[in-house]
Amino acid sequence: MLKKKNLIFLGPPGAGKGTLSEPLMAAEKLAHISTGDILRAEIAAGTELGKSAKAIMDKGQLVPDQIVADMVAARIRQDDCADGFILDGFPRTVAQAELLAESSAKCGRSIDAVVLFNVPREILIQRLTARLICRQCKASFNKIFAKPAVEGVCDHCGGELYQRSDDSLETAQNRLKVYDEQTSPLIDYYTKKGILFPIDASLPKDQGYAALVGVLNA
Ligand code: AMP
Repeated sequence: MLKKKNLIFLGPPGAGKGTLSEPLMAAEKLAHISTGDILRAEIAAGTELGKSAKAIMDKGQLVPDQIVADMVAARIRQDDCADGFILDGFPRTVAQAELLAESSAKCGRSIDAVVLFNVPREILIQRLTARLICRQCKASFNKIFAKPAVEGVCDHCGGELYQRSDDSLETAQNRLKVYDEQTSPLIDYYTKKGILFPIDASLPKDQGYAALVGVLNA
């Protein structure tokens, strides 16, 4: 059992938040909550929310704070979050962090640690534009650094691999700009609260994972 179990993974797109969530969830009973995955599911289901979110996501911009904060508030109340959870890609603004502080305290599931994934910018662009995602299990691969054994097929479940529409060079660059402007103030915000733990997320996956487990048990 980890010492810190209600977690936020904070870092720019392509930093490996989803990639390191996978082994952590295999080892620990944690729920994985990715606001990006929830929004993509809404798009796939053709809901009104999905339709309005798609236009925003394809530009690399942020969906309104209250919408994502409400989605997360409802999600962390669910039973599978009782032993801990990973918030991946949320909060992305200080306003979202404030809304989360309220909703998580209300259900007795306040945040124990915010892990900051540090990666140099050049590596992020390379990772994002070469990223492939499994349609079925959401595992991520990379055409350069982490190729699947069979082209286009997920090693874990045999699902089809695809490139996210917002992983084009132009949108990836815009998402990084949005991170700098709107999300990076959270580094200061959580440092002041004394719960920010940085890791070097440019390392290979096994070393990055060791660093992650190290901070969660410190
Ligand atoms: P991700 O899968 O985390 O890279 O998110 C993909 C896209 O979904 C982002 O570029 C945003 O358009 C939207 N999104 C995901 N999470 C949030 C959030 N916490 N706040 C606002 N928009 C979000």
